[in-house]
Amino acid sequence: MRPVALLALLLVAACGVPQPPRGFPGPGPVDPRPGASRIDRAQVAQANRDPGYCRARLQAAGARHSVMPGFQGPGACGYPWAVRLEPGGRAARWLPQAPPTSCGVALAVHIWERDIVQPAARRHLGEPVVAIRQLAAYGCRTIGGRPGGPLSEHARANAIDISGFRTASGREISLIRDWHGEPRTRAFLREVRDGACGLFGTVLSPDHDRAHADHFHFDQADRRTPFCR
Ligand SMILES: [Zn+2]
Repeated sequence: MRPVALLALLLVAACGVPQPPRGFPGPGPVDPRPGASRIDRAQVAQANRDPGYCRARLQAAGARHSVMPGFQGPGACGYPWAVRLEPGGRAARWLPQAPPTSCGVALAVHIWERDIVQPAARRHLGEPVVAIRQLAAYGCRTIGGRPGGPLSEHARANAIDISGFRTASGREISLIRDWHGEPRTRAFLREVRDGACGLFGTVLSPDHDRAHADHFHFDQADRRTPFCR
């Protein structure tokens, strides 16, 4: 390489390309170990607060997305802005279309699909997942639907409920039917549940209670230690 070209390359490497913060999961090589992908709580909080930071982190993670306007619900329900994961690229589709969520949820769910769901699907099912089924993100409600109780993270679109998966061969996997199904599918579902624990503040599965017999609940509640069951 000629010295001038080398100098130009070094200058670009030094200051020309914005780099994600150290330790933040980007589009690089995937570590297939369950739980290897993590987002720390401070990064989630910043992603939820700051649209510029949010977009940079989604781009670094290779997530196609759009930023959505806010929504004012009744009382304290609603959100100032949201993000929706868009189809395309190498990511699985959402069925139905991905809902608007907080940035922390969108980012975590994208990384979860890429680094946790796909390796687990290949290992346990022998094929990739091509679609993820979601039930809801935003909903103005209290935790467990208790009247007068604290608002659910769903009330701020800071949560998503996921009910199943479709694989490349067209096989449908649902939590309600397959959580206690045949061993390989059970192992897949437990691995994707456990892998979500490094990415979300709260992970609830059919092991938690009967209200979650048919879905995973993932949210980005601001808690010091993730709650995972
Ligand atoms: Zn939920």
